[in-house]
Amino acid sequence: MKAVMKVSSGFGNIELRDIDEPRLQAGQVKIKVHSAGICGTDLHIYKDEYPSFPPVVLGHEVAGEIIEISEEVDNYQIGDRVTTETYFSTCRVCAYCRDGYTNLCLKRLSIGSGVNGGFTQYLVVPVANIHLLPENVSFEAGALTEPLACVVNGVLEKRPTVTSGDVAVIAGPGAIGLLTLQVLKSSGATVVTLGTDADQQRLELAEKLGSDYTLNVQQQDPLDLVGQITNEGLGADIVYECSGAGPAAMQLIDLVRRQGRYVQIGLFGHAVSWDLDQLCYKELIATGSFASTPESWRKALRLLADGTVQTIPLITDVFGVDDWRKAFDSFEQRSGIKTLLQPVE
Ligand SMILES: [Zn+2]
Ligand SMILES: [Zn+2]
Repeated sequence: MKAVMKVSSGFGNIELRDIDEPRLQAGQVKIKVHSAGICGTDLHIYKDEYPSFPPVVLGHEVAGEIIEISEEVDNYQIGDRVTTETYFSTCRVCAYCRDGYTNLCLKRLSIGSGVNGGFTQYLVVPVANIHLLPENVSFEAGALTEPLACVVNGVLEKRPTVTSGDVAVIAGPGAIGLLTLQVLKSSGATVVTLGTDADQQRLELAEKLGSDYTLNVQQQDPLDLVGQITNEGLGADIVYECSGAGPAAMQLIDLVRRQGRYVQIGLFGHAVSWDLDQLCYKELIATGSFASTPESWRKALRLLADGTVQTIPLITDVFGVDDWRKAFDSFEQRSGIKTLLQPVE
């Protein structure tokens, strides 16, 4: 089967290779991939900014159909439409695993970086990782369950979280920003979405998806707008950095009010400068979130099932895995929003 693989460490080193179909082990299911999303992490793996264990098939945002189940498993059936959590193995005994934070397990191996992922025809995953896709959620929409679960983890699971009546600012209207926007709107926040000249279309989509205000920071100073819409001009109650761009992180520090909350969701891929003095002066609470927890997956699937979060409008490009280079290029050039890869025979 044709697979998009990181073949050795270092910059680039991604190739389309022909590999054997994976063999099923006890406690696993084999999934026939229908759609797999390209994520910022894949680009970071391309640039060697995110750890991977080559040779490995990339792709951790997967939706497909069960085609084989190991014998001990009886709660799923052949033909079930599913998506899968990303941890292939966790140690189960470290403090984080025991507390239910498997995303923080020190020995965690994930599909698409540590073990073979979904930019191919078939993959095997532990049965404990799979979730049924709701009937009204297509494979394409379901491939975005993983990024949505990450957003749910960062927005709803980390304390202190957003509350109704908060003024929230999002920097970066990419896929993660637009998912964050929809989750924030479902929580009753007033949302300002910030982008740059390159984000014009994304900002328009943000507006369609419910952003109360959108603003191009290269055309207009967001400080004025945020001042106008917050009580006594104090600033935003909570800010979300979803762009992975250093200047955005700095700008959000200016926009958040004293005793406000700063949430880092995007990844920069390198160290950025940030005015930590403001953490003191403003008594900010800063949090980040990494990946997702089983609970954030369950919530993500409910948000998709009841239509609270829409993922289809975010999908702008679909390529076969043999066109992976074109897909990575268009993703890097930010010409679209979310790019899916589909297997080829
Ligand atoms: Zn992802
Ligand atoms: Zn562990």
